[in-house]
Amino acid sequence: MIGKGKCVYMIHFDRPVGDVSNPHGSAQHYIGYTTDLEARMKEHRAGNGSKLMAAVSAQGIAWRVVVVWPGAGRDWERQLKRRKDTPRWCPICGQQEVPHSEEAILVEKESEDNEQ
Ligand SMILES: [Zn+2]
Repeated sequence: MIGKGKCVYMIHFDRPVGDVSNPHGSAQHYIGYTTDLEARMKEHRAGNGSKLMAAVSAQGIAWRVVVVWPGAGRDWERQLKRRKDTPRWCPICGQQEVPHSEEAILVEKESEDNEQ
């Protein structure tokens, strides 16, 4: 995992969850900003830190971090959230290139893909 320092990250949920910011929609991604990714992931795992992640946790939905933009700040977080096209470039759901800000790091898919 990545150490301390500010970054923007994207989480993919294994199945969609009701979108707390849109009663008619559902969400399968969460984009967030933090200065300490590890601490933030602990919060999310415990169902803290955001309403959406709390709902995901309460419904027992598995999730994983799929992209990290190290050094990116709140402006980049806002830009990504405004795009509304997240599923098209999520490394798991989509086929388009991940948007660039500085260097994006694609977090490798975990074990379920035939590890030897
Ligand atoms: Zn996805």
